[in-house]
Amino acid sequence: MTKNPSELAFLARGIDSALARKLREDNWTLAKLQSLSPEKLIELGISDTIVPVILGEGRPPIPPDLLIKTLYDNRWVCCVCRDAERPIIVHHIKPWAESRDHSHSNLAVLCSIHHGEAHSTHALELTLTADRLKAAKAAWEQKVSRLDPLAIFKATQLMSCQWWYFNHVRIFEIAQQVGIEAIQLQGFQGALRNGACDEDGYLCSREGLLYVGQARSLSLYRYMSNMLQAAMEHTCVRNISDDLDRGTLDRLLLGGDLVFVQGSYQFSDIPDGFGADLVRGRRSVNNVEINFVFNRNESTSDSARTEWLRGVRHLGCLLRVNKLERSLKGTLHIEATVLAIRSAHEELKSRMYEIGLYKSGLIGGADEDEEFNLLACEDVLADDESDEDFRVS
Ligand SMILES: [Zn+2]
Ligand SMILES: [Zn+2]
Repeated sequence: MTKNPSELAFLARGIDSALARKLREDNWTLAKLQSLSPEKLIELGISDTIVPVILGEGRPPIPPDLLIKTLYDNRWVCCVCRDAERPIIVHHIKPWAESRDHSHSNLAVLCSIHHGEAHSTHALELTLTADRLKAAKAAWEQKVSRLDPLAIFKATQLMSCQWWYFNHVRIFEIAQQVGIEAIQLQGFQGALRNGACDEDGYLCSREGLLYVGQARSLSLYRYMSNMLQAAMEHTCVRNISDDLDRGTLDRLLLGGDLVFVQGSYQFSDIPDGFGADLVRGRRSVNNVEINFVFNRNESTSDSARTEWLRGVRHLGCLLRVNKLERSLKGTLHIEATVLAIRSAHEELKSRMYEIGLYKSGLIGGADEDEEFNLLACEDVLADDESDEDFRVS
């Protein structure tokens, strides 16, 4: 998805994504456009209602965090037709002139056709009324929020893919919070029979390794993966594997959010775990650093414990964001709790399940400049290509 600051700056001012892209490809930046006359802007294809917005004489631009959240939540696609081939516009459901409202709830992503409909009247009646737009937006955002968790679990059903680690207590907590009945889960009876949980579904605590004995291990694994899947059906998980960009991430993420990140992680032992086998997991790329600590005694198999959760490994981690912080050098530090770790799967890294969006060209690489900062009043945004991604030997 385009994160190019110039294109975002144009979108924030009401220009559609196709024209925004074309302007950027022709090397136009906001500052350059602002030096032009209104006539010249119209010649470039900018409509006369947008010209004052570009020149800073009309409505203020949509603030970056609200714009980015709206685009992400709608996958850069019109919420009415969901046609990824069509260029999009960020539209105010209640017109800005009346509402002065840039909030997320008042913004909708529309294609140029449905944007036209939202603004035109047939027989003195709006065809795409505010209520219809709100319903379409809610339905699409709901569907989008299910895409990532569905893909994460679909990929674990393949024989070659599996969970290497569960944070048993945290997963149980989340499942309880969202109202999952543990004893109704598939795998509960087996886990109970094999002494992995009690009759209320609570896990039996254990010194040392959690997965010992074949029957106990298999039944506990089945119980936990079903519990995690059930819990994720009630929560929003965002797959940000190909999206570790500090400029957008610290606007997008909040403490408490669940994210999935696939890539190279470095695992290093923490010397004195007082009986626990404590490990620090770290992923560092594009000036974004993710850190978490977990107990390797909870890994789901011997090979996970002795091989896959050591050194530098290519894996997928399901994380809960605890804290986001920028260092003076501009690195975005994400302190997280790891809920589960799984083997890597190509589809999850590149989000190939969104192939329709890739084909449309709406998602793709972008060479960044600093222009979006003009409205963000912020230090660094552009990706300076410093990539200290680890290599798996
Ligand atoms: Zn549409
Ligand atoms: Zn509009």
